[in-house]
Amino acid sequence: MVARETTQKKPHVAVLASPGVGHVTPLLELAKRLVVDHGFQVTFLAISTDAPPAQIQLLNSSTLLPDLHVIHLPHVDVSNLLTASTGVSVRIVLVVRQTLSYLPSVLTNMQPHIQSLIVDPFCLGALEYAAAFSIPTYLFLTTSASFTALTMYFPTLHAQVDGDYSKIAEKVVVPGCNPLLLDDLIPGVLMPEVLPLCNRIPLVKGVFINTWEELEPVTLGAVRKNPFFLGLPAPPVYPIGPMTKGNEDEPLTSTLESKKMLTWLDKQPPDSVVYVSFGSGGTLSGEQMSELAWGLELSQTRFVWVARPPSEVSASGSFFEAGYDAEGAASYLPDGFLDRTRERGLVISSWAPQVAVLSHGSVAGFVTHCGWNSVLESIAQGVRMIAWPLYAEQSMNARMLVDMGVAVWPKPAGDRAVVGRGEVERVVRSVMEGEQGKAMRQKVIELQGTGLKALGLGGSSNASLAGLADAWRAGGSP
Ligand code: UDP
Repeated sequence: MVARETTQKKPHVAVLASPGVGHVTPLLELAKRLVVDHGFQVTFLAISTDAPPAQIQLLNSSTLLPDLHVIHLPHVDVSNLLTASTGVSVRIVLVVRQTLSYLPSVLTNMQPHIQSLIVDPFCLGALEYAAAFSIPTYLFLTTSASFTALTMYFPTLHAQVDGDYSKIAEKVVVPGCNPLLLDDLIPGVLMPEVLPLCNRIPLVKGVFINTWEELEPVTLGAVRKNPFFLGLPAPPVYPIGPMTKGNEDEPLTSTLESKKMLTWLDKQPPDSVVYVSFGSGGTLSGEQMSELAWGLELSQTRFVWVARPPSEVSASGSFFEAGYDAEGAASYLPDGFLDRTRERGLVISSWAPQVAVLSHGSVAGFVTHCGWNSVLESIAQGVRMIAWPLYAEQSMNARMLVDMGVAVWPKPAGDRAVVGRGEVERVVRSVMEGEQGKAMRQKVIELQGTGLKALGLGGSSNASLAGLADAWRAGGSP
């Protein structure tokens, strides 16, 4: 990012993110770009309730800029609305809904008045509040163009099947896009709770997407030109990615575990280590953790693993705890695993400085849950992947990565529920060694290059954001 000199009064925009590191990270990156590259003043509105420790540290990080101000919105108590079975998405929806009631007073007091509000999908309820102040709202869909297309198509699909998704055949054909497998979308994507958010999309002034023209040209072309999308009251889309955090923005780098991990990586040969992590919230069952451990051991490959305690009830069990110190991993990994792999592996139980790890010269592969931030961080560091989707739209992302030739996706054998150790061993070896690994490396480095180009001066994402910033500076929107 290049600091931009300006003598004009700085335009002021606000950014509002829902709780979760995966939500805050890309919106914070966008905020920084507006400040540093475009000379804006940005107020970042953070929802603190249920924010995991890593998010709090991300926002408190010393790298924040003078023209970037963080306001923590008041805490709300939703505990009386939660039950043992309340999922992550519903919990976020409840927290956001209650917190938004504070927005009018925050908007009233914000000086100078903001020109635009940028929100993530969970915060689309802010639209009505912003409209009352005549503030245009923009949506930052922090995922892929494919997911954006599906989101725009979802109300039509819902109406076609009267809300009964079991009526959908094997595939969902979003006009102009590759067919999406129903298995990838249920559960986690096709949910009635998502519908009110999708219905609000036509009301925003524009949709930012964390992708770039060269990564998803066909889908972006379809969203802009396919007759179906042209027939919708859909706002313009602005691919502005890859918006990923930099090494210097890592939260929790100073914990003992992070330091231990980076020191350990320093001692490993180049391109020899596979990094295993399931995002801020991903958890595996006890049986699956055991099989994964055995597979890593059998593969004889060096590894670093963020091994959170298993959960039998939820694949996103640590979403709100990300960054807390967990109990020692020895208690939930196979007996003797840590001793037998001591020379080749390192297990931590809480939080890794992910970008620092992925950018380390010893790391060549990433076993990832395919959260979109993790995917982009892996591509941005030229690291090939083993796709291990757990929830939300991660299976869609996994399939896209496999189609692009930068990931393999291990599958359970027959009707087993878990991926067995033999399959883990096979995929780790194929990604880290041999011809398949080489081809994937070459492909991911190509994508890394296109991403860098898109963000550079004259690049597609850079131009997309610059066009919008110029329009805002001139006092309007394109
Ligand atoms: N992350 C990290 N260390 C960890 C786990 C996650 O730094 O041990 C960061 C990761 O770099 C990414 C974010 O948390 O920026 C997770 O976002 P993603 O979209 O991949 O998944 P989510 O956690 O939202 O499912």
